[in-house]
Amino acid sequence: MPNAFLDKVSLGRDSSGRPLVVNRRTMAMLEAAERKLGRKLVIVQGSFLAGKAAKRSGPTHNRAGVIDIRTKDQTPAQQAQTLLELRKISFAAFHRTTKQGFADHIHAVAIGDPGLDPSAARQVEAYKNGRDGLKGNGPLDGPRVKITVFPLTMPSSIAPAVRTARPVVHLASVQAQFRAGGTKALPDVKTIQLALNARLKLTLLVDGKAGKFTREAYKKHQKAIGSAPKFIDGIPGPKDLTNLGLGRFQVI
Ligand SMILES: [Zn+2]
Repeated sequence: MPNAFLDKVSLGRDSSGRPLVVNRRTMAMLEAAERKLGRKLVIVQGSFLAGKAAKRSGPTHNRAGVIDIRTKDQTPAQQAQTLLELRKISFAAFHRTTKQGFADHIHAVAIGDPGLDPSAARQVEAYKNGRDGLKGNGPLDGPRVKITVFPLTMPSSIAPAVRTARPVVHLASVQAQFRAGGTKALPDVKTIQLALNARLKLTLLVDGKAGKFTREAYKKHQKAIGSAPKFIDGIPGPKDLTNLGLGRFQVI
């Protein structure tokens, strides 16, 4: 029987422009951790990246169950809290640092995911043994928690949260494209065009280019939500974009 919990969920693109894909179980684990933390976490590298992962990651992100979480948007105290909650929810989570030769981030492997790359499965074993999962086999940093395994099939209690997995829109890159007049096609702009069509009952061409009609439609949206006149400019801002994304996409 197919296990829907292991289905892939596409979340758009990561901060380096790679396809951001995780399975539902990994997503549900992340969302559970976010609920504990009371804040959102940003995935900077997802799963299923065979051949496309950052070099320093090795093959660990090639298959299911592995994500990298941004840390630069968190205080050191928040980073420690994130590491703890990810571990409690049953990620083998490691804080990777510049000292170790990484761009600072948290690397998290979903314990028990049957689709892990063997290299990621080895990191889970290292984690269970209190090691850091790197070549040098150093000690694990931060708090040790009881090893648990998140459910392997979708519990009905968390299914609704998983179904609302939303794409991500990167504010800075769409702003640049709207200002440039849509010279190139961007998946994030497509997401915005779809939302504008739905919200304003329009029939914009969904081509990912922030051309004249898209900018005019965006202006309409800004007006419709009562933005101050100086913000009715047809260029996405944090407030109007977040408003447009309600129930549709997440702005980062
Ligand atoms: Zn990683």
